[in-house]
Amino acid sequence: MSSAAQRLDGLLRGDLDALHARSLYRVRRLVEGPQGAELLMDGRRYLNFSSNDYLGLAAHPALRDAARHALDQYGVGSGAAHLITGHTRAHAALEEELAVFVQRPRALLFSSGYMANLGLAGALVSRGDCIVEDRLNHASLLDAGLLCGARFSRYTHADPAALRQRLTRPAKRTLVMTDGVFSMDGDLAPLPALARTAGAAGAFLMVDDAHGVGVLGDHGRGSLEHFALGMAEVPVLMGTLGKALGTCGAFVAGSDALIESLIQHARTYIYTTAPPACLAEATRAALKLAQGESWRRAHLFRLIRHFRSGAAALGLPVMDSISAIQPLLLGDAQKAILISDKLRAHGIFAAAIRPPTVPIGRARLRITLTAAHREEHIERLLAVLEQIVKHSR
Ligand SMILES: *Cc1c(COP(=O)(O)O)cnc(C)c1O
Repeated sequence: MSSAAQRLDGLLRGDLDALHARSLYRVRRLVEGPQGAELLMDGRRYLNFSSNDYLGLAAHPALRDAARHALDQYGVGSGAAHLITGHTRAHAALEEELAVFVQRPRALLFSSGYMANLGLAGALVSRGDCIVEDRLNHASLLDAGLLCGARFSRYTHADPAALRQRLTRPAKRTLVMTDGVFSMDGDLAPLPALARTAGAAGAFLMVDDAHGVGVLGDHGRGSLEHFALGMAEVPVLMGTLGKALGTCGAFVAGSDALIESLIQHARTYIYTTAPPACLAEATRAALKLAQGESWRRAHLFRLIRHFRSGAAALGLPVMDSISAIQPLLLGDAQKAILISDKLRAHGIFAAAIRPPTVPIGRARLRITLTAAHREEHIERLLAVLEQIVKHSR
């Protein structure tokens, strides 16, 4: 008779084989050394077009110095949750600086964006309430909607009229949640129209600006700065630290009442160990650079324009994106993998994104640009893409 472990493996193997057969099996690659325009991965050097380190800060000496210094001061572990003994002066200072950065009274740190989204949805709505989301929202927002106990529905991507239809059924409270910049398409949510629609229905708009913070707006404050929106229109703002700010973690920013409510009720805040203080200090250094070195954004946007015009000239399927996320829409998963493999053979890494991360038939090459790239890196990417596309036609 087979053991429980053998029976479980039998079940799991069947599922894994099915993923393989559908080109949906995921593997991890082994990175050695820091993030950057070039990456040492699986023993080979690649030109890296798959990082969310949009401002090129993840390996910056100022962040390393800040982390090292804090390491000596605080040690490594925070020892406990924020509400017990894990909340250090470093965390408090970072929260204050984040609040000033996004021009809101307060900000609250979370260990990750995923946890921030789960925590805030659970704290703000529950049974009897309503949560409405863009269909293409990040998985963490969709999971937050499904898990929080409120009535959950989704509207057509970036469509304020579709949102309006979802807001007709009465609820005690309605929370509308959207990505600011959509993580797999790179397009911006039509935030002014969404804010008007939500406001007119008495609903509250929450924006997850993981890919906007640090990148968009003249000061890098994100999608809300890009659209000149404030707390009046978007009372709940979430941003992550693991992308443009180059570290790890997330924050929610808003009114004092909002932040105090999250401290009381957000389970992913309360029941988890505080992130290390050295991470908070490194993020403070990143925030300084993101604010002080606007050339990083200017350079990034030059690269984005360069890539888009070059790719369009080659007839490549660019998408409607002004952000650092510049996907090429290829359709089926196998084609996306084929092109990603061919790029890799030429020393270029750009990840193929497949279902269920994106809808079936909308697999793509997700190219991301960062301030660490140089013009010649874009030239090289375009030249190799041209060669690959020519051969596959
Ligand atoms: C990356 C991302 C998250 C998750 O943030 P983590 O800090 O990586 O957990 C949430 N929302 C969006 C839109 C993201 O792109």
